Amino acid sequence: LNRQMANPNAIIEKVLHLYKEAFEEKNLKLSVSLRGDEEEMSLDPERFEQVVRNLVSNAIDASPSGEVIRVETGISIPDSKLIETIAMDAERYFEMKIRNRGAIIDQAELPRIFSPFFTTKNYGTGIGLTVSKKIVEAHKGSISVQSDGEGTTFIVWLPMNIQEH
Ligand code: ADP
Ligand code: MG
Repeated sequence: LNRQMANPNAIIEKVLHLYKEAFEEKNLKLSVSLRGDEEEMSLDPERFEQVVRNLVSNAIDASPSGEVIRVETGISIPDSKLIETIAMDAERYFEMKIRNRGAIIDQAELPRIFSPFFTTKNYGTGIGLTVSKKIVEAHKGSISVQSDGEGTTFIVWLPMNIQEH
């Protein structure tokens, strides 16, 4: 990782701008609430951008036309049940949630979506989520997915102020 002090919300805003036309093509609405950006944090800006691009492009692909994609960020203490790998000493986490409606993922398929080459798209590579998970875990963070009757939510947590042992 090429860690630098960077503002994750600024990276998210940049990615949303990059996908502006893709949103317009499907008549998708964006609901954005970016919080907790009063300070920069240690992350690899290029790798984090890659994660956001993967999750946003997946949300666009999955959304029925005219639907809303929600992007929310903040600083939180994550639910330990959802965490696979966390930095034990991090007291605060940057949290990013990306939700889309429709395209519910079958509960049985949920664990497989992070596997290499798992795709349900004709021209999908199936590596976007695999790479995203690797990048998040290299930051000592965690990525989780929930899919229910409403839609699908990906949640990424990145520890802030990491104290390495
Ligand atoms: P790709 O986008 O090339 O298919 P990914 O690794 O990004 O590969 O995603 C793997 C699969 O996970 C997708 O093909 C799709 O079936 C499922 N998936 C990913 N994101 C979403 C989402 N937001 N909603 C519904 N299904 C999703
Ligand atoms: Mg993808």
